[in-house]
Amino acid sequence: MKKTILITGGAGFIGSHLVRFMVNKYPKSNVVNFDSLTYAGDLERIKDISKEPNYNFIQGDITDLSLLKSLFSSYDFDSIIHLAAESHVDQSIKKPLEFAQTNIIGTLNLLEIARKSWNDKFKGKLFYNISTDEVYGTLGEEGSFIETSKYSPRSPYSASKASADHFVKAYYYTYGMPIIISNSSNNYGPNQYHDKLIPLVIKKIVENRSIPVYGDGQNVRDWLYVGDHIEAIDLIFKNGKIGQNYNIGGDNEIRNIDLIHRIIKICDKFLGRSAMASLKLIKYVNDRKGHDYRYSVNSSKLRRELKWKPKTIFEEGLEKTVINYLNQYTK
Ligand code: NAD
Repeated sequence: MKKTILITGGAGFIGSHLVRFMVNKYPKSNVVNFDSLTYAGDLERIKDISKEPNYNFIQGDITDLSLLKSLFSSYDFDSIIHLAAESHVDQSIKKPLEFAQTNIIGTLNLLEIARKSWNDKFKGKLFYNISTDEVYGTLGEEGSFIETSKYSPRSPYSASKASADHFVKAYYYTYGMPIIISNSSNNYGPNQYHDKLIPLVIKKIVENRSIPVYGDGQNVRDWLYVGDHIEAIDLIFKNGKIGQNYNIGGDNEIRNIDLIHRIIKICDKFLGRSAMASLKLIKYVNDRKGHDYRYSVNSSKLRRELKWKPKTIFEEGLEKTVINYLNQYTK
C-alpha cells in the first residue's frame, strides 16, 4: 500500500541518512522531509536523492503552527518520524529557551496537528519520536539503562528531549495516538555537523589547532554507527510495538580521551605526520557545566524482540568515518 511518511529534521545528520534510506527502500511511499534548515541542516547531504519521484522537501519550522496546519492539509500522512531538534548540548547550556521552543513546543505542535488532522482516528497511523539515551541521566562505572529506567535528564538539551518524550507518551495515554519512542546513544558517521566531537577533533588536527577536551577527558560515551541506527529505526518503524520505548546502543563505550587518541592515530597516519604527533594539540579546558559522567543503554529488548544488532565494528566504522572527514577537510 502506498504510504506517505513525514520525516522532520531530514536535512540534519541522522535525518539525512534516514531520508536517503527510506526514499531508496520504499519507492512506492512518499517521503516528505520537513526541515527549517538551521545551521545544522544542509540539503547537500541528500543531494543525491533530491530528484527521486517519491521525495519532497518542504522548508519550515515545527514551531510555526500555521505552517504545520497547511503542511497537514496538503498531505495525508500515514506516519511521522520526528527528528527535528536542536541537538547540541553545549548550545543548550547557552540557549535553553531555544531548545525548549523547538524540542518541546515543536514536538507538541506536531502531536497536536497530527491528532487533529487524523481526527482522533488512528488506524494505521504512527508517530515515531527519535530520542536520546541522555534522558536517563548519568551513570557511575557500572550498569546500563533499560527502557523502564527513570528519566532523570540533567542538561537543558536532555530535559527538553525528555519533556518531548513525556508529551508523546501523554498523547498515547490520553488520546490513544499510536506512538513509539526510541532512545539511542551517541551516533557517529559521515555528514555530522563539524561542531560535534568526532568531526571537531579531526578538523582541529587538520588545522593544527588545539583540541579542547572537557575536564579530565574521562567521561564515557557509547558510540553507535549512524547506519546501524537507521536500520534500527526502520525495524522499529515497521515492527515496533505501539506505546513502547526501545533503547538503541552500539555497545562501544569509550572514554572521550581514549576516543581522541584513536582519532589522532588515524589522522596522523593519513596526514603523513609522525605517529601520535598530534597528541601535543590536546588542551584540557574547564569541564562542561553539569557534564554527565557516563551514558550506557542496554538494547537487549530491541535485539530480542526485533532481531536487531549493530553490524559495524567500532574500529572499522571509526576509521571509515575519520577518513571521510579527512578527505573533506583536506580538500
Ligand atoms: P542535527 O542537529 O544534525 O539535525 C537536526 C535537524 O533538525 C537539522 O536539519 C535542523 O535544520 C532541523 N531543525 C532544527 N530545528 C528545527 C525546527 N524548529 N523546525 C524544523 N527543523 C528543525 O541532529 P541529529 O544529530 O541528526 O539528531 C537528530 C535527532 O536525533 C534529534 O532529535 C536528536 O535529539 C536525536 N538524537 C541524536 C543523537 C546523536 O548522536 N546525534 C543521538 C540520539 C538522539
